Amino acid sequence: MLKKILIANRGEIALRVHRACQEMGIRTVAVHSTADASAMHVRLADESVCIGPPLARDSYLNVAAILSAAAITGADAIHPGYGFLSENARFAEMVEAHGLTFIGPTADHIHMMGDKIAAKDAMRKLNVPLVPGSPGALESFEEAREIAERIKYPVLIKAAAGGGGRGMKVARSAEELEEAWQVARTEAKAAFGNDAVYMEKYLDRPRHIELQILADTHGNVVHFGERDCSLQRRHQKLVEEAGSPALTAAERNALGAQVTAGLRQLGYRNAGTLEFLYQDGQFAFIEMNTRLQVEHPVTEMVCGVDLVREQIRIAAGEKLGYGQEDVQFNGHAIECRVTAEDPESFAPSPGRVNTYHAPGGLGVRVDSALYSGYAVPPHYDSLVAKLIVHAPSRPQAIARMQRALDEMVVDGIKTTLPLHRRIMADAEFQSGDYTIHWLERFVARG
Ligand code: ADP
Repeated sequence: MLKKILIANRGEIALRVHRACQEMGIRTVAVHSTADASAMHVRLADESVCIGPPLARDSYLNVAAILSAAAITGADAIHPGYGFLSENARFAEMVEAHGLTFIGPTADHIHMMGDKIAAKDAMRKLNVPLVPGSPGALESFEEAREIAERIKYPVLIKAAAGGGGRGMKVARSAEELEEAWQVARTEAKAAFGNDAVYMEKYLDRPRHIELQILADTHGNVVHFGERDCSLQRRHQKLVEEAGSPALTAAERNALGAQVTAGLRQLGYRNAGTLEFLYQDGQFAFIEMNTRLQVEHPVTEMVCGVDLVREQIRIAAGEKLGYGQEDVQFNGHAIECRVTAEDPESFAPSPGRVNTYHAPGGLGVRVDSALYSGYAVPPHYDSLVAKLIVHAPSRPQAIARMQRALDEMVVDGIKTTLPLHRRIMADAEFQSGDYTIHWLERFVARG
């Protein structure tokens, strides 16, 4: 078993990994920027190393500093969390080249799935259904126009290296296509240093449904059901549920069987999430994330599994030790992402938190690195807390979330707590009948 893990991340996810390590008797090394010297992940870790100035590219993305920190502390593995270096194939490769264990998939699989065109190709070969679109990268504007006419508007131009909803532009007509083509490529180049783009049919009322899987290095692949992440703003998730209010157990099992068989064939290892759009009873693959997801806790609550613990066990070469039939789905879980943002304009609101009070009680979980007196730095992602509830049914989970939201206090900065209270109280949300476009309209209504 691994003895000491360096956690190459910050905030709630660094704490999340630390907690799993503690329970497994594994020592932890925190890394931090100068802006995070008094952060909770640094306070709780067994050891910590400062890896650079506040800007992420100089610290949390600084591969040489992170590898040096692992060497001087004698860590034997690195957990990348999500974001930062978690989907950087080169980093995974370098970690292993330095004789350390990378807690995640192989560099080859990270590389393959990080290129969305290659990922779709791989899924096509495994007979996983895809959103109709261009067969590969668009070579020219003329090709884009031809394909758009064939698959019919509206269409979406997406960055091959995309992430976080960037480099994605909708064109509703031939007139809009030229601009979408230009803007998507410029954005993709600026954000990812790669202007390769492809086209998909823009679905008008899909849900975002994703499947959590775990694979060990002995050929065992198991899925942990779906998460419904349709509540999004600018293609970014705000609220997630497990399971989906729209899916039957038979649909879940059929998709799960197909996906696990495919990944077994690929020889995939560790945790992964396959994202689909779901409309009119059909699934269409959009991308695979080769890491732990922000919303993994809703799956943990419903399945009673510690996904980080499983990631560590898999990285240490252990067998899963259970099969698909052992995975049970109990009740319903919901997660609200609480960010340091104005709940109406979504302008960032970093600064000092005067009072922080976390809700509690049966079925309530808070994953957060906040504490009273903590100053949220302006340099990083605005996520400050994930509030997760679990209850026997969806209506009970909603009631529990409303109760927990009312108890929670983050005073001194603006947060999205008021927006979450409004969503939970909304009759349409409560009915479960929503698509990926619902939240945008809900926010606009005010
Ligand atoms: P990113 O990696 O940037 O997050 P994704 O491919 O995962 O990009 O898509 C993010 C979100 O964008 C999806 O959850 C969905 O809401 C929307 N989206 C992506 N592809 C389509 C599509 N073909 N039609 C409609 N919406 C889409």
